[in-house]
Amino acid sequence: MEFQNTLEFAQRQDELDPLRSYRERFYLPAADGQTSAYFCGNSLGLQPRSVRDAIDLELSEWASRGVDGHFEASNPWVSYHEILTPPMARLVGAKDSEVVCMNSLTTNLHLLFVSFYRPTPAKFKIISEGKMFPSDRYLLETQVRFHGFEPDDAILEIHPREGESIIREEDILGAIDTHADELALVFLGGVNYFTGQLFDMARISAATHAVGAIAGFDLAHAAGNVPLKLHEWGVDFAAWCTYKYLNASPGNVAAIFVHERHGKNFELPRFGGWWGHDKDRRFLMESGFSPMAGAEGWQLSNVPIIAMSVLMAAIDIFDEVGMDALRRKSKSLTAYLEFVIDALAAEFPDEGIRVITPRDPDKRGCQISLLIEGRERDVFERLTAAGIVSDFREPCMIRVAPVPLYNSFEDVYLFGEALKHILANSEGM
Ligand SMILES: *Cc1c(COP(=O)(O)O)cnc(C)c1O
Repeated sequence: MEFQNTLEFAQRQDELDPLRSYRERFYLPAADGQTSAYFCGNSLGLQPRSVRDAIDLELSEWASRGVDGHFEASNPWVSYHEILTPPMARLVGAKDSEVVCMNSLTTNLHLLFVSFYRPTPAKFKIISEGKMFPSDRYLLETQVRFHGFEPDDAILEIHPREGESIIREEDILGAIDTHADELALVFLGGVNYFTGQLFDMARISAATHAVGAIAGFDLAHAAGNVPLKLHEWGVDFAAWCTYKYLNASPGNVAAIFVHERHGKNFELPRFGGWWGHDKDRRFLMESGFSPMAGAEGWQLSNVPIIAMSVLMAAIDIFDEVGMDALRRKSKSLTAYLEFVIDALAAEFPDEGIRVITPRDPDKRGCQISLLIEGRERDVFERLTAAGIVSDFREPCMIRVAPVPLYNSFEDVYLFGEALKHILANSEGM
């Protein structure tokens, strides 16, 4: 499609957008009473309007039923997480038995590493991407130390080549081959939080399995952003949070995926809790941990119902729209943002405006990471003052995420206008 950097064009696209009504199902934050454009759904998704009723329902159940709500609430609390499994499994391309919502993201990854990072003196290395999200890096460092290894020996970070800013997948595949004999695990962000690069998880999983290692992914920036087929791709395990693209409220319950080929392997070491214990015997209060089959066997605790009710309201929206429709809009909205930025880069050639995110729409989600040489922080702060909510990641990245559920083409146009105004009024700074 021919894009145009005009308000008329953007508004026309919004009229033609089959998903445009979803914007009204969210609260859009207004900065100082001004209408702002919100581009931080990659960090914290917006609040669905349906959330309040979902919480109210469970508050009423608790108020009126007390402990009996566990079995008698309209959605009995004892099995509440089971209602969330099918829509969550559809979202990530998994079987119901492969997914469960529980805990938080980093906690879940540690629990999964108990089962899936089982290094031996010969085979103990982990391949990960350079510039990992810090929590994942700390996860790796502390896990390898826990097993008696040193991070410098055990963690192989793959970086972009000199002078490049995204990782070449062939370099990951090359490292897997080079370290075949010593490799225990490949662990990557499915979509990198910093650059927005989307990895080919099927290809990387296959190459990992070919050398007898395990493939795990952090999908914090992938779930609800890009279509996933975790089962078909043969991914061994994955985990993701629900407060970014999934809009389930700050810090809410996360989710895990365990491929079905591991779900019935009761020999795998794991940390147990009563919610992962054989469901039919859970209330017999006996000793002798006997995990449930599937992802549910990794659960520890009974679930936070109020938080889960928010997640349910949020995930219902994804189930209704479907990832295919979302991805279609996402590709075109993100391409429009790229077009607007490129137009500004051409108009202000001395500003060093650079899109870091892959140009290939199949190699990214909806985030565009942007450099504006040497003055990212200044520009970011001025964007914020103009009511454009983006974010800044040290040392120098502006991240802008037009989210297809609630962002519009007009939002993207407004971003371009704000950036243009900043550049036009600061030349020579
Ligand atoms: C957001 C994010 C996290 C956050 O971890 P929590 O345990 O939810 O605090 C971890 N890893 C990645 C890649 C993220 O993007």
